[in-house]
Amino acid sequence: MGIVVQKYGGSSVADAAGVKRVAQRIVNTKKLGHQVVVVVSAMGDTTDELIDLANEVSPLPPARELDMLLTAGERISMAVLAMAIHDLGHEARSFTGSQAGVITDAEHGRAKIIDVTPGRIQAAIDEGAIAIVAGFQGVSQTTKDITTLGRGGSDTTAVALAVALKADVCEIYSDVDGIFTADPRIEPRARKVPRISYEETLEMAAQGAKILHLRCVEYARRYDMPIHVRSSFSDKEGTWVVKAEDVVQEGSMEAAIITGVAHDRSQAKITVVGVPDKPGEAAAIFRAVADAQINIDMIVQNVSAASTNLTDISFTLPRGEGQTAMTALDRLKGEVGYEGLLYDDSVGKVSVVGAGMSSSPGISARFFEALSEAGVNIEMISTSEIRVSVVVAESQVQDAVNAAHAAFDLGSDEIEAVVYGGTGR
Ligand code: ASP
Ligand code: MG
Repeated sequence: MGIVVQKYGGSSVADAAGVKRVAQRIVNTKKLGHQVVVVVSAMGDTTDELIDLANEVSPLPPARELDMLLTAGERISMAVLAMAIHDLGHEARSFTGSQAGVITDAEHGRAKIIDVTPGRIQAAIDEGAIAIVAGFQGVSQTTKDITTLGRGGSDTTAVALAVALKADVCEIYSDVDGIFTADPRIEPRARKVPRISYEETLEMAAQGAKILHLRCVEYARRYDMPIHVRSSFSDKEGTWVVKAEDVVQEGSMEAAIITGVAHDRSQAKITVVGVPDKPGEAAAIFRAVADAQINIDMIVQNVSAASTNLTDISFTLPRGEGQTAMTALDRLKGEVGYEGLLYDDSVGKVSVVGAGMSSSPGISARFFEALSEAGVNIEMISTSEIRVSVVVAESQVQDAVNAAHAAFDLGSDEIEAVVYGGTGR
């Protein structure tokens, strides 16, 4: 029996009862003969509460100190979890990210893992103990300061440790039974996907499905570490995230053309109206946005009206960055000579994702027909090889998801999706 890495999210260890329940699961896994390494997130909404506290104390907390504060959340859960395991008669030792050998760069609040040296973890499990590691944190190689990996980063800690320890599997536990064909909170007929490729999972996560931290999936794909996404509230088999070949070969059914529908309500849309249609204008606009460190998503440029030689350019971006982008573009007005700026943050994005679509025509047509039958107007469209996304009014996101889900026959006859815990992970 090999090494199993298990990661438990905040909703799984929201209170003392949750901690004890998770401790029992961990012990059960140990009893099956595995060496068990556990990565744990902060209890419940602790991280949000710590951020609120920091903001009450200071309008602009120094990034180094904010990281020091936030990592305390995971230290609480790792210690109490180790205690609960002791009470079940098993030895558990907790480790901070730094003690576990999670080495990062020095970017506070969004540090990247650059090396994992899990000597102490390996020693602990070799001596028969269960190792508990604080997720979402590491230590900078250069400054030796404590860092965090960005919100939701414990998933990435778990996969990185699993890779470094050559674990058989990385199990990620949350409050839903796996990855679903749509968010069960807005599509009650959502079905659990038994197996899904890294690529599809990346698209789903990037398009707003709150399933796994994006970087954790990238990491797993790079090192081919299978992830088993499942609920800590049930014993059901969850969803296996594996390489594309394994989805087709081992799946009992024929691989589906569409795997799921993702939605995202965190975006806004900016339209630059009346841009002169000549070389260099789009370059100037997007240079200004890039220099403001803003990640944009979709871009649409209309054909220019022949009479005026002016065109409109629209793009989407995270809502939180709308103000910064508008300010940056405003400064450009004289240089570019556009007519005006429009900002709309009541938009949402709905995407259908599936590896099979690259070889089957008509997916976009079917998707857009379904939207039209549901009375949903499409504002923007973008595609990748395995995805079609549209921007619609935020008030129509749910209708759009339901329509797409039905159009591609993704629904199950009975209600499969149970949401056990809180509102997220
Ligand atoms: N506790 C951190 C957060 O809430 C990390 C995590 O949950 O993965 O973002
Ligand atoms: Mg959390």
